[in-house]
Amino acid sequence: MLTEMQLLEPLQTCQDPELGRSFGELKMLAGASLGSGNVLNVTIDLPTPAYPRRARITELVQSKLRQAFPDIATVAVSYISNVRGKMSGGTIGLRAKNVIAVGSGKGGVGKSTIAASLAYGLQTLGCKVGLMDADVYGPSIPHMVGSQGAPSAVKHTTSTGETFERMEPIIADGLKVMSMAYFVKPDQAVIWRGPMLHKAITQFLKDTDWGELDYLIIDLPPGTGDVSLTLSQIVGLAGAIVVCTPQQVALLDAIKAVSMFRQVKIPLLGVVENMTGEIFGRGGARRKAEELGIPFLGELPIDSGIRIRGDDGRISSLFNDDNPSKEPLLHICQQAAIQVAKQLLHAPQMPQLEIL
Ligand code: ADP
Repeated sequence: MLTEMQLLEPLQTCQDPELGRSFGELKMLAGASLGSGNVLNVTIDLPTPAYPRRARITELVQSKLRQAFPDIATVAVSYISNVRGKMSGGTIGLRAKNVIAVGSGKGGVGKSTIAASLAYGLQTLGCKVGLMDADVYGPSIPHMVGSQGAPSAVKHTTSTGETFERMEPIIADGLKVMSMAYFVKPDQAVIWRGPMLHKAITQFLKDTDWGELDYLIIDLPPGTGDVSLTLSQIVGLAGAIVVCTPQQVALLDAIKAVSMFRQVKIPLLGVVENMTGEIFGRGGARRKAEELGIPFLGELPIDSGIRIRGDDGRISSLFNDDNPSKEPLLHICQQAAIQVAKQLLHAPQMPQLEIL
């Protein structure tokens, strides 16, 4: 009778098709046993439930094991997943494995739409997700997700008897959301000075009862580096995603956004091209990403359905029914999750930031 270790041995050196490291190195081999009918059951532990195209792993595992054990009748592959992450918010009590910032060089390119869609998409794929609207100059997330009201403060008691308060995030279609818009009147402008901004962002991260999250998605304000700088000082971000539209003039702003993230030492997870189509063109962001040496996460075609659902506060419904944006968005979510996992392999430590 072969032991579990012997059954898994042929898979140790198999390369994961997405991450380019071996299953052994990635600790993806969760178990193996011989069942009745000479069936070999193998369990693979994926680094994220958003792992794309599992079928390729199934094929790889089956062919490797059939080759190694020709007498086995069937190889059955099943999956579990455990999101790996930096868990960098430990010092401020934030239990999010990965914090992802979504930025853009300028407003109106669909940054908030992509941020909200990333959150709902990753949730649809089985991840625990929160969405923090840090676009303090124009917080549009609450409108897009159709939520309103003020977050309530809840008292908690530590094991040593001390009490502290945490804000409950607003739940919008099952997603935990926090935004400055919940605290101000809809038509009220908020003027921010640097230190106030820093304090508000810190509070949103620290004093919100996010619970345990696989991914916390943060919608940044367009262009400026203020919030990014604050974020990189308090949490080690998994990375940033830059959203841009395909036309040349917009790409110039995207380059600035990339340069800003590089300056504040936030790793770049990739670029998303939004509003691809006849009006703005196609492929500009992909080419720019290649030039800049940054992954391209995918494109989202221009479609009035997105605008309508955003206006109606039903962004989450993009994942519930058949519509032209569902597949492109899920693809972007999967690519983003893979890039987070890749980043973790290359830079598991929090980046050191010099403040000038
Ligand atoms: P930003 O956060 O960059 O300012 P928003 O996400 O608020 O941009 O999007 C600006 C407008 O464009 C919104 O009305 C939104 O619904 C719309 N929009 C975003 N992406 C698309 C798309 N792919 N197709 C059609 N409309 C879109």
